[in-house]
Amino acid sequence: MTQHPFLSLADANAPFADQLIAAAARVIRGGCYIGGAEVEALEREIATLCGTDCCVGVSNGLDALRLILLALIELGRLDPGDEVIFPTNTFIATALAIRQAGLTPVATDVDPHTMLLTADTVEPLITQRTRAILPVHLYGRVCADPSLLQLAQRHSLLIVEDAAQAIGATGVGRVGVAAAFSFYPTKNLGALGDAGAVVTSDPDLARTMRSLANYGASARNSYTLAGYNCRLDPIQAAMLRVKLPALAEENRRRRAIAATYHALVAHPLVELPQLPDDPSAHVWHQFVVTLRQPRRNSGGASVRDALQAHLLGCGIATDVHYPVPVHRQTPFAGAARRSLPVAERLAGSILSLPIGAPATAATASAVAAAINAFPLR
Ligand SMILES: *Cc1c(COP(=O)(O)O)cnc(C)c1O
Repeated sequence: MTQHPFLSLADANAPFADQLIAAAARVIRGGCYIGGAEVEALEREIATLCGTDCCVGVSNGLDALRLILLALIELGRLDPGDEVIFPTNTFIATALAIRQAGLTPVATDVDPHTMLLTADTVEPLITQRTRAILPVHLYGRVCADPSLLQLAQRHSLLIVEDAAQAIGATGVGRVGVAAAFSFYPTKNLGALGDAGAVVTSDPDLARTMRSLANYGASARNSYTLAGYNCRLDPIQAAMLRVKLPALAEENRRRRAIAATYHALVAHPLVELPQLPDDPSAHVWHQFVVTLRQPRRNSGGASVRDALQAHLLGCGIATDVHYPVPVHRQTPFAGAARRSLPVAERLAGSILSLPIGAPATAATASAVAAAINAFPLR
């Protein structure tokens, strides 16, 4: 095993073990295994955290995104085939949700420093069929530039947030019409299995999503929509309720590690992630550095791969989120209407450093020292 793992879920959950076991026992003894008090309580707690009127617990982050889009279609605010613009440097679920809702995914490039889509990257892609933008709060950083919001307003485009990586960041859930969260075990608020949620302050949207997630039911034995089964498991709701009160502390821990990296990493080839103006608008799901030089020489080895190998040699595990942009994955080969050079360059030059458990400020110092000792050639 490496001295510094990239992430250990067992370490992440160890502080909660006794409470998690007690919460699981409570659900097992309670006898309510679908819906019920744990799910309803978690929904209220997440809505309070986000400052939204409604929260609908669902099965996972992909379903959360898919249900938002399907509900917007049911409500007549989107039509099948409409174009939805998303950033290509994301997890594939962002684009899958658009496709599975019967909409047309259109991939956009991103800003090289924030790595988020912007008004400038989105505007050239807007057509008569464009009806929505699906910004991703990538790595936990809120994507809500005023110019992006103005662009959306000017073209009457809906904004749907992929907030899978950004729970607890200020403003998340209030940028667009609704936001999707994932509680996949590796996320800042991770369940012990699959789970997700949608927040919105639109009661019609919440009601429609709730119905779609439960076979399209409007009442018992009455089905008004052709729905799905995308419900949140009450055991996972109970697990999440144990961990939710510690989310703010977890996000502070991540900010402290990010600050340590910013203070200590100093290497001419390594660019640090840009800090947001408002520190609370970033929850550092990942800490991603960019190599300033993609290759040592023309046709030579990737400098990112060399740094990753160097760090592994120092006992430090790293990862890449994501090495292949979505429009380079087979199902979305048609999603790029033009070249997306920034995202393509980033895919080959980004590296995610340890920031999840068991990483501490001491880990960040060790990682920074190892990076600073990376040979220049
Ligand atoms: C994790 C993630 C998802 C999907 O969430 P699941 O719960 O795994 O379905 C979607 N988008 C992004 C950006 C993610 O990081």
